[in-house]
Amino acid sequence: MKKGKLIVLSGPSGTGKTTLCHELIKRSLRLVFSVSATTRNKRSGEQEGKDYFFLTLVEFKRKIKSREFLEWARVYNQFYGTPKKPVLDNLARGISVLLDIDMQGALQVKKEFPQALLIFILPPSLAELRQRLIHRNKDSRAAITRRMKEIEQEMRYIPRYDRVIINKDLALTVKILREIVVGCKT
Ligand code: 5GP
Repeated sequence: MKKGKLIVLSGPSGTGKTTLCHELIKRSLRLVFSVSATTRNKRSGEQEGKDYFFLTLVEFKRKIKSREFLEWARVYNQFYGTPKKPVLDNLARGISVLLDIDMQGALQVKKEFPQALLIFILPPSLAELRQRLIHRNKDSRAAITRRMKEIEQEMRYIPRYDRVIINKDLALTVKILREIVVGCKT
């Protein structure tokens, strides 16, 4: 059986990655979303096992030790990791897997799976990104200011990605992503 594809989406917070992932999963057969584990607090509306597996720091570190993560990283002072088993099981069954992870994690994945397709999502502009972060009302002003500073660092990873997409129009970006996902030779 043909193995599934590993698709990694990264980009600064607020570029619409979560929405893009939902839309892509909804419209694609044989593509599943990899639910990450995190030590950060659950935001309102988020569901355990659907958005994230919310773990304590002790639980997370135990999983690092027992090598249960495909990759893990410290992002914005919290730990995030991709559970390895579901990814490997899906790929072996011919089902493609979509990861929404940061750049450090994406590079770890690429090292282990050179055939993984790394896609960087950019906002139309930094000013628009700041507005999006304010409007989605998930983070404090201080957290937004901190994240805007971190974005400059994150941009340095762009050359390591296979594709870069500017998410100006959601429907158009989903269309482009679908074409890439269906067309990528992995
Ligand atoms: P948020 O806390 O806003 O959901 O996510 C913050 C950042 O962590 C995002 O850039 C997201 O892509 C990244 N992230 C989410 N899950 C993982 C993961 O499993 N591994 C890594 N390395 N980053 C992750």
